[in-house]
Amino acid sequence: MNKALILAIKGNSLDDGPGIRTVVFFKGCPLNCVWCHNPESKRAVVELSWDQNECIGCLTCTTVCHVNAISKNNTFFINRDTCTLCFQCVEVCPSGAMAGVGKYMDVNGVVNEIIKDKPFFDTSGGGVTLSGGEPTVYMQFASELLKALKKIKIHTLIETGGYFNWDEFEANIAPYCDMVYYDIKLIDDDEHKKYCGVSNVKILQNFKNLVELSQKNTIQLMPRIPLVPEITATKHNIEGIAQFLSECGVNHVQLLRYNPLWPEKCKKIGISPELIDKKLTQWMSAEEYEQCRQVACKNGMQM
Ligand code: SF4
Ligand code: SF4
Repeated sequence: MNKALILAIKGNSLDDGPGIRTVVFFKGCPLNCVWCHNPESKRAVVELSWDQNECIGCLTCTTVCHVNAISKNNTFFINRDTCTLCFQCVEVCPSGAMAGVGKYMDVNGVVNEIIKDKPFFDTSGGGVTLSGGEPTVYMQFASELLKALKKIKIHTLIETGGYFNWDEFEANIAPYCDMVYYDIKLIDDDEHKKYCGVSNVKILQNFKNLVELSQKNTIQLMPRIPLVPEITATKHNIEGIAQFLSECGVNHVQLLRYNPLWPEKCKKIGISPELIDKKLTQWMSAEEYEQCRQVACKNGMQM
């Protein structure tokens, strides 16, 4: 059966759509945003994570590693070039500091995990949100999952960065999706390439297609701007995105507050965080958020 690499399935979310929701996080993304708040979801492979805060320094892990990838001189070090991802260290670690990140699951396995939360969806107007990573990396799987959820009358929402093949999305995802949260990060294509690793041309075109589709059927569309200090949270960028949305006939947008916890998450999976200046290590102040909100409002957006 068709399987996808799932990072996590988390219930009781109040931030990922209407009502109480269970969120299915896929692992793998075609973008490479430097500030990604889920860096462990970027790569479509199972990874080894080590949490410094959980580690009790017992060094049991070093005794089972068959390639001596783990060492401790002054600091604890995992040689990720040598590591074969056998996960023996995860098995023996007494504190849970070592963990495997990502699990291949089939659609039935995911539905079985979700179904117990249905009473919460029914009483709160909630449902299931597919998030990531990028759910459309697993287009066929996401389609089967959404179809299965609709069959048992569960509200469905997909959070996407918009970098997908439109024809496949229209045929496989749109018919089974009640709502789309659509992230637009940077309006300038050169900046988009610099900070997100790919051009935004396909993302903007797919958004236009989705607006047209939402006018013909019942799919609800919510564009979102993730606010990143001095990168996306600039007057120039928010004005540009608001102008693009207006041209598409859309007058609403969600602004997502910046989350600075991602550098710590990067370290757990052995990625060196890039572009860490002072601004990116701090929570966004209420004043900064309000400035962004005012720019969007002045440019015709409702929130
Ligand atoms: S076995 Fe776990 S707790 Fe012990 S040193 Fe290794 S990672 Fe840390
Ligand atoms: S996953 Fe296996 S190879 Fe990698 S560090 Fe752990 S024990 Fe060693």
